[in-house]
Amino acid sequence: MSRSEFDIIERFFTRPIPQRGDVPLGIGDDAALLSPPTDQQLAVSVDTLVAGVHFPLDSAAETVGHKALAVNLSDLAAMGAEPAWATLALTLPAADDAWLSAFAAGFFALAEQYQLQVVGGDTTRGPLSITVQVMGFVPQGAALTRAGASAGEGIYVTGTLGDAAAGLALRLGRLDSEQVAAEVAATLIARLERPTPRLAAGRALRGLASSAIDISDGLAADLGHVLAASGVGAVVDCQRLPLSTAYQALAALPGAALDWQTAASHGDDYELCFTVPAEKEPLLQSRLAGVGCGYTRIGETRSEKGLHWRDAAGHELGLAVSGFDHFAVGQGQE
Ligand SMILES: [Mg+2]
Repeated sequence: MSRSEFDIIERFFTRPIPQRGDVPLGIGDDAALLSPPTDQQLAVSVDTLVAGVHFPLDSAAETVGHKALAVNLSDLAAMGAEPAWATLALTLPAADDAWLSAFAAGFFALAEQYQLQVVGGDTTRGPLSITVQVMGFVPQGAALTRAGASAGEGIYVTGTLGDAAAGLALRLGRLDSEQVAAEVAATLIARLERPTPRLAAGRALRGLASSAIDISDGLAADLGHVLAASGVGAVVDCQRLPLSTAYQALAALPGAALDWQTAASHGDDYELCFTVPAEKEPLLQSRLAGVGCGYTRIGETRSEKGLHWRDAAGHELGLAVSGFDHFAVGQGQE
């Protein structure tokens, strides 16, 4: 790489705004110095996106920048945390100025919505991959975790499920975008490439939800993590899974192969799945008003272990819905 690591990080990832008061020393020294508030806990999460695995090789750099940060912010949302700082490690085939500035534009458009500051970074040469670490704050003891659900609670999801699966089918050419209205295709591809982290919803659920997780690997897999961590089971009504009108429009195409099981198993939607004790369910409507997404009750937890699916007639279906395998993206391109 012709340009030094320091130069790339300094040049593309140092922005005048936001400059946070809790960053006494940011990019430019051997380490950043950070001053977390003393009454809060630090929430830290890291994720790597690999080209051809987590996003198609021909993805626009701006969307890769958005998604690399969004998937990390989604993890903070699931904890009920408020984002503050990020570090960034980029592995690049070459130091391409146009790619770097488009990537940085996508990254910072999202970062600046949350006054998130990049406080350090690293670059190396190799096949394209992006690692982002985010750090945020949550009041002492107020974090949402996977382990708090009890039997007899409502299970909810924010937004709609399956849109990223539908967007991927369009993006990889498995379904023809010419067959649906342009705004349907644009909506679904945006849900795949530009997911919205549900940070406001996560914060609003502090003190209300007993557990939470973000849906990165599919509802079946991620709700399964909550059930395992909490030591309970669940039954979910497949008719109640929230599907967008765009998803339903694409699913209506002949041979679309997009059904409730796709919506329940495919990942990348970055909605939240959370549980709420019965006595707190009436508070949800006012607490989640104005957080920017809807929410739907999809089932209940119960003491009998395992995740079960129920049809419209109330019969439990004897089937297992498996999680999303990120490597399917790579397979689709070979
Ligand atoms: Mg997560």
